[in-house]
Amino acid sequence: MKLHEYQAKEVLSKFGVPTLPGFVCTTADECEKAATDLGGLVVVKAQVHAGGRGKAGGVKLAKDPAEARAKGAAILGMTLISPQTGPEGVLVRKVFVTSACDIEREHYVAITLDRAKGLPVVMACKEGGVEIEEIAAHNPSAILREYFRPDEGLFAFQARKIAFALGLTGPLMGETVKFLQALCKAFVARDCSLLEINPLVVTKQGKVIALDAKVAVDENAEYRHKDLAAYRDDSETDPVEARAKAMDLAYIPLDGSIGCLVNGAGLAMATMDICKFHGAAPANFLDVGGGASREKVTEAFKIILADPKVKAILVNIFGGIMKCDVLAEGVVAAARDVGLNVPLVVRLEGTNVERGRQILAESGIRLVVAKDMTDAAQKVVAAAGGK
Ligand code: GDP
Ligand code: MG
Repeated sequence: MKLHEYQAKEVLSKFGVPTLPGFVCTTADECEKAATDLGGLVVVKAQVHAGGRGKAGGVKLAKDPAEARAKGAAILGMTLISPQTGPEGVLVRKVFVTSACDIEREHYVAITLDRAKGLPVVMACKEGGVEIEEIAAHNPSAILREYFRPDEGLFAFQARKIAFALGLTGPLMGETVKFLQALCKAFVARDCSLLEINPLVVTKQGKVIALDAKVAVDENAEYRHKDLAAYRDDSETDPVEARAKAMDLAYIPLDGSIGCLVNGAGLAMATMDICKFHGAAPANFLDVGGGASREKVTEAFKIILADPKVKAILVNIFGGIMKCDVLAEGVVAAARDVGLNVPLVVRLEGTNVERGRQILAESGIRLVVAKDMTDAAQKVVAAAGGK
């Protein structure tokens, strides 16, 4: 789950990472009021789940409340297009109006997981600001890496090494060490998968501040962070994926033409493989899970039916914990609700399979029964128009 900059800063400041105060605004009026409350000189920043906002016109300095209102009006409602948004861009619905500061220097610091090492890693680069991707591509040795164990945190000597590499010596050293250790603590405590501060700035007054913050929280750990649930903003998420997530369905849209409704990730992968082997690509990965309810199956089937790419559907279920009759009821309910407009191939095995087949047969839904996986794949590929 991605957090917005203003949310990330709320989280980080609780761990003692210095940030600048600000208000999240959805109207030009609110921007003006925020600037008044902050004392005039502010920066108006688009709140979208993508970086590169500065270059895309989504970060603007305003010298007084009237200008904050004008800049707010210009940014709110704009379609922001940056290398991280894709060509269609994203609609800006919120801005963060925050105190401006006098920047002396901009550096780059981020923490992520190094999966090969199995450890979090702090990455730091003296050249911060808006060009970090360039540096990573052309001068990777300019990026320093320090690994730390989640239970130990970043040691002071490691933080000093990073501060030294950034040129933050003298009186700035102590501040930077505290900053980095707080950052690592936040990363571990909030189960982040990414925490990026770009830029970390040194002000003309000699303060070390997180001027930007990008945080992604590991969705598998969401249950440990109920307080972060309010931060969820699905307005930029694909609506179908958001619907699937709300039903706790593991759903990933793909480019092919075979809609797959399967239980269990392994069977789902095997189903996709065998469809492809017989000549047609899957339109999605969809695992309804082990003990899926009738409602969940209904929703899953509706998601597949709503996909215009789908030319034929394959329901491939091995009822272990899942019961075939529950599955059949879900499929029938969805087909009745929204109508079945493409061929349906069903391969059912396992618990209550006879009862499941009976429900499908008596429903009057037109479907093709397959006897095994190969048969199912061949039939669904043929139904979708062949190879
Ligand atoms: P991004 O482009 O999405 O990464 O947005 P950032 O928050 O990193 O802002 C982009 C750039 O705007 C920063 O690198 C700064 O140079 C500039 N900027 C942001 N906030 C301030 C501020 O308070 N004062 C000044 N002078 N510049 C700012
Ligand atoms: Mg930035």
